[in-house]
Amino acid sequence: MILVTGGTGYVGAQVVLQLLAHGQTVVIFDNLCNSSRASLERIARLGGRRARFVLGDVRNRAQLDALFADFPIAAVIHCAGLKAVGESVREPLRYYDSNVGGSIALCQAMAAAGVFTLIFSSSATVYGDCATMPIDETCATGLPTNPYGFSKLMAENVMISLAASDARWSVGLLRYFNPIGAHESGELGEAPAQVPNNLLPYLLQVASGRRDVLQVFGNDYATPDGTGVRDYVHVMDLAEGHWRALQALLGGSGVRVWNLGTGRGYSVLEVVDAFTRTCGVPIALTFEPRRTGDVAQCWADPGKARRELGWQARRSLDDMLRDAWRWECRLAAEHRPIVYTTETSPTIPVAAAQAASGYAAV
Ligand code: NAD
Ligand code: UDP
Repeated sequence: MILVTGGTGYVGAQVVLQLLAHGQTVVIFDNLCNSSRASLERIARLGGRRARFVLGDVRNRAQLDALFADFPIAAVIHCAGLKAVGESVREPLRYYDSNVGGSIALCQAMAAAGVFTLIFSSSATVYGDCATMPIDETCATGLPTNPYGFSKLMAENVMISLAASDARWSVGLLRYFNPIGAHESGELGEAPAQVPNNLLPYLLQVASGRRDVLQVFGNDYATPDGTGVRDYVHVMDLAEGHWRALQALLGGSGVRVWNLGTGRGYSVLEVVDAFTRTCGVPIALTFEPRRTGDVAQCWADPGKARRELGWQARRSLDDMLRDAWRWECRLAAEHRPIVYTTETSPTIPVAAAQAASGYAAV
């Protein structure tokens, strides 16, 4: 059985589906601070089987000890954590407590239970403002520009030190680039509880009329069109990377690091154009000053994951946008009255947008 912490969240839920598809049994441990039990039903529908679920907090050793006592856990995929950069600046202690403290408590509980195989959801943010592109795993980790980034780097270092101290540990640090998209069925994706910080969820909410306008942060970067460039990777491809990494780690020893990205960067304007072309919905946008802490560009050299894991992102940007839009339309149909707040809102009615996305109401 595989434990997935944060398994009801955006990435974790797709990882759980991957594990179920490969015949694994799964227990999810999540405090539901940024997700809900609805994910469990969606996972069961798409996966054809249920994952077990335990409500709990990775900072709570007693809960973790009970979890390891109750389930025959062979390995852990640790996705639980807080991820909003701006919030981490306002509430750094909560971020260090959750992302570093939670990782330490989890490692302690694993060691006590004799479980030593661990995959950690890390981030390209640990590279800081890297001077050369693409970024491979030999690039030095830099100085993150916010407490969220520091918390990821600190948690990585905890795991690196631990594995150096005890050869029974086999740890995979997966440095995600920019996961976007949703399950290709459109039935499982990201459902931000607050105002989205990231480009794609914000753009989707503009497209569905929940927000007026996309603010593009900076059009004076030294990039082809002046806007920031990122390596967007489909969340289903990302989830497959976890399965491959798990195979590589089982029975191994030490720490291994893999970038999970496509190797191709797209600018903000390229993403917006691709969305309008693929999904048929125009996006109102304004140009704003650069966002503090943003780097101009960031894309992966995913060669190590290809060579060592046989993993390669297969889905295109258009696939990512189409799947994300299908999910957004489903969310809109299920939960939200669509309110067009100003004249800058999209002029295409949501029903037409849904049709354009291939979405069919059920
Ligand atoms: P998410 O917020 O959708 O999922 C995280 C899950 O962890 C949520 O279900 C939340 O309820 C749970 N959680 C948070 N704190 C917890 C705690 N103390 N105890 C138990 N459960 C807790 O986020 P996501 O996008 O799925 O990200 C998953 C992981 O990947 C995070 O660690 C994040 O930092 C990392 N990551 C995400 C991105 C991204 O862009 N999505 C990029 C790089 C790294
Ligand atoms: N971005 C933007 N408007 C938004 C959110 C993001 O212009 O509302 C830009 C951001 O400046 C960056 C890119 O989109 O150039 C990706 O940002 P995101 O927050 O999604 O990822 P990260 O910066 O963490 O890689």
